Amino acid sequence: MSKLKIAELFYSIQGEGRYMGVPSVFLRTFGCNFKCAGFGMPKGELSNEVEPIAQRIQEFKSYEELPLVSTGCDSYASWDPRFKDLSPMLTSDAIAERICEILPFNEWKDEHLVITGGEPLLGWQRAYPDLLNHPKMAGLKEITFETNGTQKLSKEFKDYLVQWQMPEVNFNKEVTFSVSAKLSCSGEERHEAIRPDIVCEYEEVGYTYLKLVVATEEDAEEAIETADIYRAEGFTGPVYLMPVGGVESVYTLNNRRVAELAMKNGLRYSDRLQVPLFKNEWGT
Ligand code: SF4
Repeated sequence: MSKLKIAELFYSIQGEGRYMGVPSVFLRTFGCNFKCAGFGMPKGELSNEVEPIAQRIQEFKSYEELPLVSTGCDSYASWDPRFKDLSPMLTSDAIAERICEILPFNEWKDEHLVITGGEPLLGWQRAYPDLLNHPKMAGLKEITFETNGTQKLSKEFKDYLVQWQMPEVNFNKEVTFSVSAKLSCSGEERHEAIRPDIVCEYEEVGYTYLKLVVATEEDAEEAIETADIYRAEGFTGPVYLMPVGGVESVYTLNNRRVAELAMKNGLRYSDRLQVPLFKNEWGT
């Protein structure tokens, strides 16, 4: 039976992208290939806000106890190895059971499943068929992978998703790839972060869109240039601009301006509803 290292598993409202406002189970896998330490920092600087938190790691027994950060990656504990003991390794059986416990009717109705991270398309791809084929997942119809768009689909996982599109299989599930490709404000190297070749492959098996995090007009210009690079490689999905800001003070400085930049450039705007609704606390 497959196992996944799970940083968080919770029920909330999807705050971003295509399914904004939809009640959703969030399955946050552990591990990421990036750090995104540039978010919220002056250009060229990297955040070290998590260092004093990591030095006090023995004080924290669960994700809910961890402090929020206003710079760098807002889900730092889902990939930083210093926090790995907060994330248990669970079997697909245990995860499916736990999901049914947290659904309001203890079975799937109209809820959606978000598989997020960290980066959920790292080695965990091999575990998803077992989880998604589990009898307790039979009523689930819509799944989103929230990815940074840098991980190729394995042959086995791609073949599995291709089957979903075959009428004779009648799997009755739709997959979406919400690709948050990292612009230079993340602090990541462009040649590693911008991988249209990989994202075009996601489009072959599911509904795929780009969700680009921006703070300034300069970021928005970079987002538009980046979207053009994806389009030149054959990408056809929608492009969203989303404000930077894992904490409310940063988000509210940013959201209206980003909405205006999206309108000006004919792009979609994605909010971060989890920030005004739930203050982006862990487990929301
Ligand atoms: S890709 Fe996502 S999870 Fe990974 S470091 Fe960047 S923001 Fe955090």
